Amino acid sequence: MIETISFILSALVGVMIGINLNRLKIERKSHKQLEKLNHSYFKGLNYLLNDDSEKAIDVFIELAKSSSETFEPQLALGNLYRRKGEVDKAIKLHQSLISQPNLTEDYRTKALLAMGKDYMSAGLLDRAEVLFTELVEIEAYTPEALYALCDVYQQEQDWSEAIKAATRYENVSGRKMSGDIAHFNCELAEISYANGNVNEANAYLDAALSIDSKCVRAKLMQACDFQKNKKWKKAIEAYHKALEFDDVFASEYLNDMSYCYSMLKKCSEFQQFLMEFIKSYRGITPVLVLAEMYKKFDGIDAAEKFVEEQLVEKPSVRGLDLLLKLNLEKNNDDGSNITKFKVLEKLVNSLLEKKPNHRCRKCGFGAKNLHWQCPSCKSWGTVKPIYGLESE
Ligand SMILES: [Zn+2]
Repeated sequence: MIETISFILSALVGVMIGINLNRLKIERKSHKQLEKLNHSYFKGLNYLLNDDSEKAIDVFIELAKSSSETFEPQLALGNLYRRKGEVDKAIKLHQSLISQPNLTEDYRTKALLAMGKDYMSAGLLDRAEVLFTELVEIEAYTPEALYALCDVYQQEQDWSEAIKAATRYENVSGRKMSGDIAHFNCELAEISYANGNVNEANAYLDAALSIDSKCVRAKLMQACDFQKNKKWKKAIEAYHKALEFDDVFASEYLNDMSYCYSMLKKCSEFQQFLMEFIKSYRGITPVLVLAEMYKKFDGIDAAEKFVEEQLVEKPSVRGLDLLLKLNLEKNNDDGSNITKFKVLEKLVNSLLEKKPNHRCRKCGFGAKNLHWQCPSCKSWGTVKPIYGLESE
């Protein structure tokens, strides 16, 4: 209800502004014409206030036919419909504006841009693409049309076209798109890997890194490929590079790093690295990886002692979970304590299961797993691990 009222108020303000502006413009018109216009407007508004938007639209469409002076408020009303999710009404209104006779080129392109956005909202990507492409070709609203086109191609997963549109957008707007373009190249690399075209995939990753020299995703994909092909040394180097670029994603691959070091029988070297790393890193994953190494090489008691010490500095539910597991594994306690540990472990697990591990730093979307593109706001590289007691 509040939404409807605010929508109508916005429409009312928009239309009233339109009327007042147009009042000045059409001073020379006859009093009779002005009266007719105002009458139609208030008739349309009356329908809006009574929540009869179908009839309101018909009135506004008739108005659009009779006078181009009412263009701006009609356009705004259509945009309001789109924002409210009533895309079919937005399209109907904007379409009627485009079909107005004697429409100036400026108004026509404005309406085309608005209708392109309507089609996007309705998921009619092909139609949106046609309109935005036309705008780019006639050099009208070029930055907006290119940005929208880039959006269309991302939704269609046409990454090559997305790269072209983003590059052109960067050139005309001056806004940096290198981070996004690097991700588009990573998407192409994913497809190439899936099709078994390793050389092609590597070329895309090189392209990603040449556009964004600190693209963690591209570096991690290279590391994974090295690891898959048992090139342990190269994989380790690539993982370290990714850490240098930005260690925020470290929790995603420290276990893989550990595996590569173990294949080279250099676990103590990795252990030393992690001991240094935990001093600056905020999360708990390196502590958990180190604890596993203590358990393997020095026994459960050493691992338990290490985790206990670390939890004093870095309280963590995941750390507590490991501590409980270590205690249960020791299995040298009397039965009653084991039951208590099991109950606690179950509680801790159910707590961890319910919590997202990642969150988009832009829109707040929470997720269990890492997404390179936020499923909610569609930004690239903004979903990152959550640091704190119950997560990383
Ligand atoms: Zn987001």
